[in-house]
Amino acid sequence: MIAILKSGVTESQKNNLLNWLKAQGLDPHVSEGKYQTIIGLIGDTSKIDIDLLCGLEIIESVTRISEPFKYANRRFHPTDTVVEVGIGENKVKIGGGHFAVIAGPCSVESEEQIIAVAKAVKASGATLLRGGAFKPRTSPYDFQGLHGEGLDLLRLARKETGLPIVTEIMSAAHLEMFHDVDLIQVGARNMQNFELLKELGRLKTPILLKRGLANTLKELLMSAEYIMSEGNENVILCERGIRSYDQAYTRNVLDLAAVPMLKELSHLPIIVDPSHATGKSRLVRPMAMAATAAGCDGLIIEVHNDPVHALCDGAQSLTPELFDDVFKKIMSVRAILNEN
Ligand code: PEP
Ligand code: MN
Repeated sequence: MIAILKSGVTESQKNNLLNWLKAQGLDPHVSEGKYQTIIGLIGDTSKIDIDLLCGLEIIESVTRISEPFKYANRRFHPTDTVVEVGIGENKVKIGGGHFAVIAGPCSVESEEQIIAVAKAVKASGATLLRGGAFKPRTSPYDFQGLHGEGLDLLRLARKETGLPIVTEIMSAAHLEMFHDVDLIQVGARNMQNFELLKELGRLKTPILLKRGLANTLKELLMSAEYIMSEGNENVILCERGIRSYDQAYTRNVLDLAAVPMLKELSHLPIIVDPSHATGKSRLVRPMAMAATAAGCDGLIIEVHNDPVHALCDGAQSLTPELFDDVFKKIMSVRAILNEN
């Protein structure tokens, strides 16, 4: 349920209302817009007498929200959320017109590799560095990541370049190791690991939540809700392609309609991963441009200094030179969007 306040309502009138709502067992969530104050009501609203609420002098209107996602719902928070990642002068904003390009290898493999890639993508214009230290691999015999050492190498790359770091968590048991990670990624395979989502909801660190391999947009938003309802509202959604029938040529099917649809449904930033969506480096540029044109708030792109010898996802990884070209193309699409 949402209640819109009339303009000119005083702080004390608003606080009286909030206290009354809390006394009814509800959790009111206030969103102060430029022109409107909206109070989202979370909890069992069935006991609330809508006519009584509508009749209050300070209430403009009351509407029931049929969607099961509340905190993530744009109706609760009409303006775009801007998520801030990193600290100090290297802080990066994502959402609400702030566009970010996250780039780096699928997995951190060595100091030489991650530093070289970090420096190269930074020189091209990327504003965040990705790199997996814990890798969710289909086969237990494949490279699983460097774990703690991988996280340390990311920290080193951050120190060298200033780029905030983005890396995937696979288990709540690793939370302590992730204490200074700037943006914690929940991978597609863990999108519905609800216990992990709840733990991440108790942090303040921004969370990059990737859509599951076969999950609906509603399920993605419900997973965001798990994080947000625990108190962490710094969630960035990521479309990374879904399973469909044609796996002979593309790894997944990139659902670009998810971008404008999620923007309509939610205020959270949405980024696109053209690397995992296609599985082929030559498809990354067109899909990165298309995703940008579709209105996403950023991209996450795999870049490797030696893709042929990459320990993970070499076929979809761009060389730094190709990334430089792709970055320029993304910026040219952004420029066209900004002109219109
Ligand atoms: C990744 O980003 O490296 C990754 C494993 O992605 P996804 O969870 O989307 O497959
Ligand atoms: Mn990968």
